[in-house]
Amino acid sequence: MASMYHSTRSTVKECSAKRAVLDGLASDGGLYVTDALGKARIDPDDVIDRTYCENAALILGTLLDDYAPEEIEACVKAAYGDTFASDAVAPVVSVGDDHILELFHGPTSAFKDVALQMLPQLMSRAAAATDERIMILAATSGDTGKAALAGFADTPGLGISVFYPHGGTSEIQRLQMVTQKGDNVAVGAVRGNFDDTQSAVKHIFSDEALRARLQERGVVLSSANSINIGRLAPQVVYYFDAYAQLVRQGSISRGDKIDFCVPTGNFGDVLAGYFALRMGLPVRKLIVASNANNVLTDFLTTGVYDRNRAFYKTISPSMDILISSNLERLLYYMSDGDTALVARLMDDLARTGRYTVPAELLERIRAIFACGFADDDESRAAMRECFDSHGYVLDPHTAVAWHVSRSVPKEDAAARVVLSTASPYKFCRDVCAALGIEANGSDFDCMRALEAASGTAAPAALAQLESADVRFDDVMDANDMANYVERKCGELL
Ligand SMILES: *Cc1c(COP(=O)(O)O)cnc(C)c1O
Repeated sequence: MASMYHSTRSTVKECSAKRAVLDGLASDGGLYVTDALGKARIDPDDVIDRTYCENAALILGTLLDDYAPEEIEACVKAAYGDTFASDAVAPVVSVGDDHILELFHGPTSAFKDVALQMLPQLMSRAAAATDERIMILAATSGDTGKAALAGFADTPGLGISVFYPHGGTSEIQRLQMVTQKGDNVAVGAVRGNFDDTQSAVKHIFSDEALRARLQERGVVLSSANSINIGRLAPQVVYYFDAYAQLVRQGSISRGDKIDFCVPTGNFGDVLAGYFALRMGLPVRKLIVASNANNVLTDFLTTGVYDRNRAFYKTISPSMDILISSNLERLLYYMSDGDTALVARLMDDLARTGRYTVPAELLERIRAIFACGFADDDESRAAMRECFDSHGYVLDPHTAVAWHVSRSVPKEDAAARVVLSTASPYKFCRDVCAALGIEANGSDFDCMRALEAASGTAAPAALAQLESADVRFDDVMDANDMANYVERKCGELL
C-alpha cells in the first residue's frame, strides 16, 4: 500500500503523496510528513553505479510511492534529462582536502532549480488525476521566482504568476524574470517592497470570493513553497548521488560516513540530508551554516528558537530568514512523531516568536546536527581564502558554509562535502568586491571582470540576458494584483 502523509501537528487526516504535493501545506497549518520515512531503505551500494537520473527515480519512487514508476521516470526525464549544464547534474569537485557539491548548474544557476524543475512535474501528474488546473502564485525578492518560472514554464495544466518589488531586485535577477519564455507564465512588478508584495499574495490566497469564481472555471490557486513535500523529496537525491560520486572517484570507501555542510535558510536543503540519513545513507554530521541571521545557530546551541531579534540584510540574501519553516519536520521526526509537542511549539512561535525544546530532544538533535555562522566580513574572507589557496570561486552563500566548515572539527578523516547553492556569477558584484577584482559599470561588466580574473566562464543563460528580449513590463499597485491574477487564470489552457 502507498505511504500516507499527515500533518506534523496531528495525525487525524491522512492523504496520499499526490494530494500532499497539490496541497503544499496541511489544513491545520502543519507540514506534511510520512511515518514511512526510513522504513523502506536505500542500500548505499545500490546508488554507486547509477546516473543521477537513475538515482532520482530510485529515491523519488521510494519517497513518493503512490506515483507509478512510469510517472516517476517521465518526471525525472523532464526535470533533469537535458535542463542542467552538467551531465552529472550536481557534480562533486575537490577543493583542497574538501569536496564541493555544485548544485547550481540548472537553468537559473541556483540550487532551487533541483527542486523546482521537479515540483511542476509532480504537480502536473497529481493534478491530472483531479481535472484541476492550477495557477501558482509567488512573491519573490529575486531568486525563487525565477527558479519557479523556469520550472513551471509550459507544464501542461499549470500556470504561474510571479510578483517582485519594483526596483527591489538586482538587475540580473529582474532580467532573469522578465525575459522568461513560456505561454503560461506571467511576471509583474509591484510598487512597494517585498513585504508589501508578499502580503498582497497572501491576501489573494485568502480571498474566498475570488477563489470561488476561479473554481467555477476549474482553476485552483497554489504555491511552490519550499515546505511542499514535492520540493523536499528531490533534494534527498543529491546527498545519495554525492556519496556515489565520492566512492567512484576513490575519495571514500564504500560505507564511509560523510559530513555535509549546508548553507541554510528555510532548513529545506539540510533537512533533505536528514531524510537521506534516515533512508540509509552513511552520514556522520549535518552542519547547519547560517549567516548573520543566526537564529538556527542559537537554537542548535541552546534549544531556544527565538525570532525576536534584529534582521540583517546580508550578501547571502537567500539565507536572510528568521523563521526556518522546515525545522518543524525535524522536530516531528526527532520527537518520534510527537504531534502534540510540535503543535505546542508552533503555537508558542506564533504567539510569542519563540519556543524551547525539551533538553532531551535538543540532545538527540545535536548528536546529528552541528552548527555555526559567518557574518559578511567572514564570508568575504572565506571567498578570498578559497580563491587564493585553490583558485576556486565561491558564491556568498557557499562562502558561509566554507567558513563554518572550517570551524567544525572533523573526525577520523571523515570526508566533508560543502554544498554550493549558487553560481558566483549570480552575485558577481559582491564576489568581485570580496576578491578585490576591479569591476565598475553594469552587472554584465562585473561578470566579464570575474571571467577575466578567475579564468572561468559565466553560465550561458546569465551572459545571454544582456541581449534577451524583455517580455514583461507590467508595473502595478499591490491592489491591482488580484485582477491581474484573475485575468491570467482566464488565459490558462
Ligand atoms: C534558498 C537558498 C539557500 C537556503 O536553502 P534552504 O533550503 O532555504 O535552507 C541557500 N543558498 C541559496 C543560494 C538559496 O537560493
